[in-house]
Amino acid sequence: MGTINEDMTMTDDTKACPVCAETIKAAAIKCRFCNTDLAAFAAQSKPQEEQLVYAGHPAVIYSVWQWLAVVVTLGIAYGYYWLHSISTQYEITSQRVRIERGILSKVKESVELFRIDHFDVLKPLGMRLAGQCILHLRSSDAGFPSVRIYGVPELEKLGDQLREFSLQERTRRKVTTFVQA
Ligand SMILES: [Zn+2]
Repeated sequence: MGTINEDMTMTDDTKACPVCAETIKAAAIKCRFCNTDLAAFAAQSKPQEEQLVYAGHPAVIYSVWQWLAVVVTLGIAYGYYWLHSISTQYEITSQRVRIERGILSKVKESVELFRIDHFDVLKPLGMRLAGQCILHLRSSDAGFPSVRIYGVPELEKLGDQLREFSLQERTRRKVTTFVQA
């Protein structure tokens, strides 16, 4: 009776504790050797499913200085800003930020959220007046560039969301590393 266990060394009634590897009852909710709360441990160490947070181009106009330039150049600047906007593509998920730049030859940047140490929101005057901001992502890892995201709706809220995802992933990775050690 009971469930079929792929691990042949275990009987139906026992399993290995994922933390201390001692054999414990399959139905145990707490390990009697290391006292780990197994349900909480499983929830914490389960990888988060990647979910899309934002995908699209930055706004064409995200600063009042740009509006000013459009007015001064009688609209010519708008074409320039538009080109700039369509040549940048963001794909932001609960695990990483991908940025594609260029129209003909694409340059792709991808940064995993758990590697990012700083999520700074910058509000230069021209952007603040337009209700916009910059999300500046920085990593202590020298191999990763710092990334600036702008022209995305509700970017400040999105920044908080990404910081939260990053923390979750870091916690999960620490837990996983601990198990493997
Ligand atoms: Zn244990």
